Amino acid sequence: MPVARAAGRVVAEAAAAVTDLPPFDSSAMDGYAVRAADTPGALTVVGHSAAGKPEARTLGAGEAIVISTGAVVPAGADAVVPVERASGNVEVEGVGPGDNVRPRGGDARVGDVVVERGDVLRPAQLGALAAAGVATVRCARRPRVTVFATGSELRAPGERLAPGEIYESNTVLLAAQLESAGADVTVHDSVSDDEGATRAALERGVESDVLVTSGGVSVGPHDLVRAALAELGAEEIFWRVAVKPGKPIAFAVRGETLVFGLPGNPVSSLVGFELFVRPALLALQGAREPGPAYLPGRLGTTVRRNEHRDELVRARTRIEDGAVVLDPLTGQESHMIVRSAAASALVLVPRGTGDVSEGAQVSYLRI
Ligand code: AMP
Ligand code: MG
Repeated sequence: MPVARAAGRVVAEAAAAVTDLPPFDSSAMDGYAVRAADTPGALTVVGHSAAGKPEARTLGAGEAIVISTGAVVPAGADAVVPVERASGNVEVEGVGPGDNVRPRGGDARVGDVVVERGDVLRPAQLGALAAAGVATVRCARRPRVTVFATGSELRAPGERLAPGEIYESNTVLLAAQLESAGADVTVHDSVSDDEGATRAALERGVESDVLVTSGGVSVGPHDLVRAALAELGAEEIFWRVAVKPGKPIAFAVRGETLVFGLPGNPVSSLVGFELFVRPALLALQGAREPGPAYLPGRLGTTVRRNEHRDELVRARTRIEDGAVVLDPLTGQESHMIVRSAAASALVLVPRGTGDVSEGAQVSYLRI
């Protein structure tokens, strides 16, 4: 991949610096290139080294060369006096050898590894590659992911709702999550709760590397996804997890394709994705730490544990005494996606009896 187009991608093969960085001894300041042994003292200006326009002459005893930040420190010079510490024509304060000089290779040596296999290319890594002269980087292929929603009640936003209908929210939510996990996403039209339509949509979906469906994996008469997957020869690896929300999630494999049947409630879908789908996508791309990436924080208010299921509680974050404090939101039911929109964290409340008290150390996922 051209580095300029590789944001978010996972590195498949380590990339090495093609140059020392900096490529030459370079000035850290605007000022005068000098011989440290000549300072302090009155010097004669004999030249000018600007960024990209080096001074060809070698600095002799008692001489100074005007230099700008990022310019080549001329031969013979071993220090730079900042312009603020020089006056007249030209009286400089004392400096030591190496002062205000960025030595060649001080950041990286030619051949040094800049990014390793399994690194995710964030902005700093992209900048590092470019600075080290790397134009292209070998990345893992983006998994091709198909996503569609099931449910006869679903309408696209912008259309008018008929009685009993609701707006379809999960594919747009999931597509954004998928893209942020590096997927190449295709969203198909929603499918009504009809066996033939469900099977046809699944049949098309399993052509991709990963298929993510929404809805229809629970125990109602209109939950058709699992049966249709079985008919297509998919092997169900698990169905239902001890997690709230997100309990009815199904995971199956068909040939090389991973299939995630996420529950229809929007918050279940959001949480199920973060716990299962994002780590799977990152692992598929060879990311070193596929996650989930739990972080430490403190609980802002006491929360009652669920006896049977680990709970992912939507919370707002704030900083108190330099630590992250998580304030659970009111409205934790799995259909309450609008309330969840105020959340920046999912707090893990492990199953058990009693409470997790205010101030207790907890783990959370950023969303
Ligand atoms: P299901 O998992 O199909 O039983 O759906 C559970 C709940 O989520 C029901 O109230 C559905 O109406 C709702 N739901 C299902 N799919 C979606 C969707 N794509 N967008 C919004 N709500 C949905
Ligand atoms: Mg449904």
